[in-house]
Amino acid sequence: MAASLRALRPALSGLSRASRTAVAGPRAFSPALALNAGRQIRSFTDGMPHTPVFQLTEEEEMLKEAVSKFSQDVILPKVREMDEAETMDKAVLEGLFEQGLMSVEIEMGFTAAIVAIEELARVDPSVSVLCDVHNTLVVQAFRKWGSKSLKEKYLPRLATESCGSFCLSEPASGSDAFALQTKAVKKGDGYVINGSKMWITNAMESEIFIIFANLNPDAGYKGITAFIAEKNFPGFSIAKKEKKLGIKASSTCVLNFDDLYIPKENILGEEGQGYKYAIGLLNEGRIGIGAQMTGLALGAWENAVKYCWNERKQFGRLIGENQGMRFHIAQARVEIEAARALVYNAARTKASGANFVMEAAMAKLYASQVAGRVSGQAVEWMGGMGFVREGLAEKYWRDSKIGAIYEGTSNIQLDTISKVLQKQYTN
Ligand SMILES: Cc1cc2nc3c(=O)[nH]c(=O)nc-3n(C[C@H](O)[C@H](O)[C@H](O)COP(=O)(O)OP(=O)(O)OC[C@H]3O[C@@H](n4cnc5c(N)ncnc54)[C@H](O)[C@@H]3O)c2cc1C
Repeated sequence: MAASLRALRPALSGLSRASRTAVAGPRAFSPALALNAGRQIRSFTDGMPHTPVFQLTEEEEMLKEAVSKFSQDVILPKVREMDEAETMDKAVLEGLFEQGLMSVEIEMGFTAAIVAIEELARVDPSVSVLCDVHNTLVVQAFRKWGSKSLKEKYLPRLATESCGSFCLSEPASGSDAFALQTKAVKKGDGYVINGSKMWITNAMESEIFIIFANLNPDAGYKGITAFIAEKNFPGFSIAKKEKKLGIKASSTCVLNFDDLYIPKENILGEEGQGYKYAIGLLNEGRIGIGAQMTGLALGAWENAVKYCWNERKQFGRLIGENQGMRFHIAQARVEIEAARALVYNAARTKASGANFVMEAAMAKLYASQVAGRVSGQAVEWMGGMGFVREGLAEKYWRDSKIGAIYEGTSNIQLDTISKVLQKQYTN
């Protein structure tokens, strides 16, 4: 158990009642209850804390501080070097395990994971997405659908030493994810997988892979099944590592499966349920990407305002003192806070047990738009110094582009949002 999370344990046990309620998230409000049982509603809300949506609990606040310190001390000195080399530094990955951040969702819950993902992205969105995919898509899949023996075998490894990847996309199936072509067949006491995957995050660092393959193509997407593979399983190979525009330190790879044998105990959940698992995980994962993009926007904003309000003078005054600059800076911060509100509302809604599909899609969509806008403006606020690779402004902007693409493009988020709304407004 990592030192920083161990340090948070006493705080967890000594929580006040109010912060415990905040951890559990606001209870879902029911208009029907309000109409039918006014008196009941009064007692229902009595004593409930009415706090800002992104007010953190005591232990979340401690986590945020610990992640911020780790980001400044360990990640920041390596950000530029990792981007140029297009690799994740081993010491950074080891640090994530040591700090307990690769098991943060198990230890402290979903909203805490969101806090950590946001805080990491403030310094490096590549490190943030490594931690995000591992926690929200991989660890979460084992927790929700893993058999007892799969959990016992893999969760301790995932928490302490082995990174994980989530393998859904393929060359011919991106937005239309369930048109995947990778096939699994039963053989002997297990399964054999043939096919390939594309765009797989963390593939270079990972040891454990969740692979979605179709076990019964005649049933269409209802044949999709999730399997667990390890990097050293015969038939598994990394065919190519992509060279990218942004988040360059995060590995993105093409995988090939050539008669990849999966022992029968390495099926995740039930046959034919893979599409449901993927939908559920991606709904949650989108809140993580929203947090990544919010952290990125804040990091870009802070990087630029430090320069504009402390360093650069033109016409005898700091450039950030010009009204034209101040208004842009203030407007950008408003947008970041709005994105954060959507992200934390989605996270707390999920934690409350209520349906959060639309909230997650809105958070991811808007946070990625804000990240793109703010990081782009931040380059301009810094003039030439925003454009060179000496600083980090240009990197934040390049990194922001991915927010509108992975875990469902912006159009796919808009599609989801409009479908939920249409249902609500159709007679
Ligand atoms: C860096 C990176 C990391 C990734 N990591 C992973 C990972 O770890 N695991 C994984 O499984 N996948 C991963 N992906 C894949 C990612 O989820 C897909 O790229 C994404 O879903 C989009 O698919 P596509 O690239 O095939 O684009 P396409 O689906 O070809 O879309 C191209 C354009 O068409 C639009 N479009 C498509 N269909 C519609 C529609 N019905 N209505 C309106 N517009 C539409 C899209 O919005 C987009 O603008 C990653 C991708 C990248 C780039």
